[in-house]
Amino acid sequence: MAYSDKVREHYQKTIEEIREGGLFKEERFIHSPQAADIKVEYPEGAELASLINMCANNYLGLSSHPEVIKAAHEGLDSRGYGMSSVRFICGTQDIHRELQDKLTKFLGTEDTVLFPSCMDANAGVFEAILGEEDVIIADRLVHASLIDGIRLCKAQYDSFKHMNMDHLEQKLEMHQDKRIRLVVTDGVFSMDGDFAPLDKMVELCERYDSMILLDDSHATGFIGKTGKGTHEHFGVVGKIDVITTTLGKALGGASGGCVSGRAEIVEMCKQRARPYLFSNTMPPVIVAAASRVMDIISQTTERRDKLEQNTKYFREKMTEAGFDIRPGETPIVPVMLYNAQLSQDIAHDLYAEGIYVIGFFYPVVPQGQARIRCQLSAAHDKEHLDKAIAAFKKIGAKHGILGLKKKEIIEKYGL
Ligand SMILES: *Cc1c(COP(=O)(O)O)cnc(C)c1O
Repeated sequence: MAYSDKVREHYQKTIEEIREGGLFKEERFIHSPQAADIKVEYPEGAELASLINMCANNYLGLSSHPEVIKAAHEGLDSRGYGMSSVRFICGTQDIHRELQDKLTKFLGTEDTVLFPSCMDANAGVFEAILGEEDVIIADRLVHASLIDGIRLCKAQYDSFKHMNMDHLEQKLEMHQDKRIRLVVTDGVFSMDGDFAPLDKMVELCERYDSMILLDDSHATGFIGKTGKGTHEHFGVVGKIDVITTTLGKALGGASGGCVSGRAEIVEMCKQRARPYLFSNTMPPVIVAAASRVMDIISQTTERRDKLEQNTKYFREKMTEAGFDIRPGETPIVPVMLYNAQLSQDIAHDLYAEGIYVIGFFYPVVPQGQARIRCQLSAAHDKEHLDKAIAAFKKIGAKHGILGLKKKEIIEKYGL
């Protein structure tokens, strides 16, 4: 079919509908490396603004760390630019194996296989290890990439209410007739910054003979005493059968992901996972840099400790200032505003004050739960946080929401 006027109009109309629905996503162009301080062009063509970045997944501040950049240069020099092959033909170097071993050791698992991204790891893992006789029981708020992976696999799909362990138990009981049961959860949920109750989940999975898959993308590198992740936080290292995670967040933030866990599961991924078999993996330059990241975070907890302090400080000061902060411990700090327009207005005003945050509203979060999601980083110094807090106070006062509880904000602004 030609790209006819009719087809063009169809797309134009759809794009217009997205715009009218207030759901149009715009890019903001960053003219500097990813860091605590960035230079941003927005809207397109505008003069560059110097901003404090409060919405990156750069949790450990390693995205532009000098040692990581140096390792990337060395990787480029010693192992070249491209692999020009998928892993199983001629796309595996010694440094891929080395990085997998470092991840295995760090995560406390049996083995690891790299993928081009965690999205690809999630797209491949379910189909590789489950069939029609099996069932997947997933938390209802798991990440979109897990949903996609589950869709690609023939196992029966079921879900349990978000973090509701009674409901999970019911489902586990109900599915005792299946060959394999696999419970699926995120470790830290990215919109609320809350932890899945992994200790209870592991206990239930042991009682009802089920495996467990944990996507720890928002935790690997900084949650838990030594940063292993949510399983360390809950004292269940070694008990998670499958961990998927990303190298695109705390671990340097370039790209890449992995499946780590039971040796046979990792082997099944190498034999059957389609993104592993049919797509190039991480290029040497990123593998070399990620490998250096693993060394840095294995040697010292300095960066995750600083992140923890920053998180405590920011949560405390913002709560004191009178914001409605969803309580928690993770560096994902949702400033609750409930009203979608209010979240957009405040984000906009903060931008003018030099603070880069994004307002989230339906359908990214449930209706009536609009918020600004702040994300802290070990790259933030106290001055960054103080400046951000001062700006939040100024703009919060302007909109008259300081000290207001949920009900009062909704009374004032509606939903
Ligand atoms: C970010 C994220 C992913 C995707 O990671 P990529 O490596 O960027 O594909 C997958 N799962 C969760 C829970 C995430 O937060």
